[in-house]
Amino acid sequence: MRQGTLRVEKPGEQLDPFFSCLGDAPSRALILDYDGTIAPFCENRDEARPHSAVLGALNSILGGEHSHVSIVSGRAINDLVPLISDLLLRPDLWGSHGWERMRVDGSRGVFSIPESARESLLLARDRASGFIDRCEVKPVSLAVHWRGLGCDERNALRTEVRNAWGVLSHSPAGDRHSENNDASGVLEWHAFDGGVELRVPGRDKGDAVRGIVDEVGPDAVVAYAGDDQTDEDAFAEVGRVGVRGISILVRRELRETCAKVWLESHEELAKFLTRWNKVCTKKP
Ligand SMILES: [Mg+2]
Repeated sequence: MRQGTLRVEKPGEQLDPFFSCLGDAPSRALILDYDGTIAPFCENRDEARPHSAVLGALNSILGGEHSHVSIVSGRAINDLVPLISDLLLRPDLWGSHGWERMRVDGSRGVFSIPESARESLLLARDRASGFIDRCEVKPVSLAVHWRGLGCDERNALRTEVRNAWGVLSHSPAGDRHSENNDASGVLEWHAFDGGVELRVPGRDKGDAVRGIVDEVGPDAVVAYAGDDQTDEDAFAEVGRVGVRGISILVRRELRETCAKVWLESHEELAKFLTRWNKVCTKKP
């Protein structure tokens, strides 16, 4: 991963070439992560609703019907759907880091996982009894959340999780942020902002982006906005689109990333979305 981040001091001018491209595009794909990007973090994950300004801008885009809109989340789709009930239309949804999908017409599916991974997930679930109240059980992963805990509690929970799950997992190749570099189990160990997740390897958010780009067409303009390490695969995939693609890190503090643009707040993301809608609805 390179230190390729560019702080957008003057987003309007910085993004001019991209928006110029967007206005003339034959098709457009707007792809957004959910937690930390559309919705501010919330100690109770079930209450993480979209930021009001982002919601308004996104509804304008959905109502304009000029862009393909997808949400690509680490959440299970069943978990995500109730949180986006205030959206004018339900967009294309990819859940569980690209393993699940619910199309706009409501049809849905889950990519099949190997039997060895399924067995490891069941074993990990059995070993999570000591911290099950903090454990989110998803179709292809288990996540432990420690947002809201004090430092000592968080460290104790992290140790407990590592002891329970370490042997069932391994670090993804090249992951320098992992806390589990020794084991070689079937599942992948992913740290994220506010916890850790054991995930079946084989798909990630980059695969979701690739699937969307394949569907919207080779000349589409593509934007992806996300905040966390799990979004880096998507940023990298958008980078392969070339000048028609833009990857956006939405985060208060800058960090090492593949994203091309940094927006510091939900308000800045809302401004980006508002400009997107304006460009796409301009009269010729
Ligand atoms: Mg996120």
